[in-house]
Amino acid sequence: QAHLDRIAAVDADIHAFLHVSDHALDVAADIDRRRAAGEQLSPVAGVPLAIKDVLVTTDMPSTSGSRILEGYLSPYDATVVARARAAGLVPLGKTNMDEFAMGSSTEHSAYGPTRNPWDHDRIPGGSGGGSAAAVAAFEAPLALGSDTGGSIRQPAHVTGTVGLKPTYGAVSRYGAIALASSLDQVGPVTRTVLDSGLLHDVIGGHDPHDSTSLKHAWPSFAAAAREGATGEVLKGLKVGVIRELPDSGFQQGVSESFRAALAAMEAQGAEIVEISAPHFEYGVAAYYLILPAEASSNLAKFDSVRFGMRVDVPGGTVEDVMARTRDAGFGEEVKRRIILGTYALSAGYYDAYYGSAQKVRTLIQRDFADAFAQVDVIATPSAPTTAFKLGEKIDDPLQMYLNDVTTIPANLAGVPGISIPSGLAAEDGLPVGIQFLAPAYEDARLYRVGAALE
Ligand code: GLN
Repeated sequence: QAHLDRIAAVDADIHAFLHVSDHALDVAADIDRRRAAGEQLSPVAGVPLAIKDVLVTTDMPSTSGSRILEGYLSPYDATVVARARAAGLVPLGKTNMDEFAMGSSTEHSAYGPTRNPWDHDRIPGGSGGGSAAAVAAFEAPLALGSDTGGSIRQPAHVTGTVGLKPTYGAVSRYGAIALASSLDQVGPVTRTVLDSGLLHDVIGGHDPHDSTSLKHAWPSFAAAAREGATGEVLKGLKVGVIRELPDSGFQQGVSESFRAALAAMEAQGAEIVEISAPHFEYGVAAYYLILPAEASSNLAKFDSVRFGMRVDVPGGTVEDVMARTRDAGFGEEVKRRIILGTYALSAGYYDAYYGSAQKVRTLIQRDFADAFAQVDVIATPSAPTTAFKLGEKIDDPLQMYLNDVTTIPANLAGVPGISIPSGLAAEDGLPVGIQFLAPAYEDARLYRVGAALE
């Protein structure tokens, strides 16, 4: 009830939610009854959960921020949602996002932007700005997001929250409306590292419904966070800092906060090691070919027949109906990426664009392998700037894409990454995050290191 009250009080301004559940209290009451009857429940039973609208749910519409799916009700729950329900978490509602998770500001939502709780004239990051804003504004204690190029970590950075992208395949993508299937990963958005671990323990693990789901015995991430909280893990920890990461593109307060966090780690026994990752700077370019290519294919299923809206064209052909529906149902950014993607995949250009991008992806994976032969984790600022003003970058796609320079490499390589708050930028008083990256399967290391710094 407290969270519903909070949503009622602030969400008209913040607009973190696209839909608020009308039966959350019934679900909560049922959990109370089970607890009173002596049932052993999960440690998170009864805790409310906000769900990014990219995840399908049977009892609430799932739009992925798009007009084309307005009012769409899924016949099944995403695996992460089903697992959350089974653990007794209480779905509170569906959160706003850039259309089909394309964006870094949530301004590409077909349902209007979300505002940053720290400053309502600023963006909450994207694409999962709704989940991050809901957590930062105390509308929800826990939220789910999806991260294809940074959509969990960058919103966490600009809202002072914790966001973790798991190892590719660690958390099921079944029921996550696909953006770019080789990059997408679902993960937690929370206020603390321990909360993130508690939620990750519920949603993670093998799922036969997702062919890329890893069969791996994952440790408890909540236990890792508790272990990390003692700070012991920092003693002798080798932290890699990337030599080639351009200092120039970073806002001063972001760089300062990053250096202060590194100094604090060093003071507690960590060793800062300069490493080389020469291909990271090509990550954005490769990503913005691979992502549109995969997205153009994934979005082909919105054909006016099987899902969502249909624009009738009296006397028109099936093709006319599809074209008019897709024209009316998709926003500008989605159309831009479909065109980019189909162009990159077209016969004459495939090798030059998509093929080259895949080669760069391999080089970035090698950079990571070389780096992790020398260090335990890599640290970077989570994003180049603090929250920018609504409208500031909306007409400049390239500027919007450059927000993802530090987050994209992890998706290209499939490694896990976490953004945790590292203070406020001196010049504007806005939150800044520090990102840690670890080798694949070492998600628990990120929980230990994150909790040690908290
Ligand atoms: N900002 C990135 C993009 O626009 C990230 C998207 C994401 O992670 N879903 O593609």
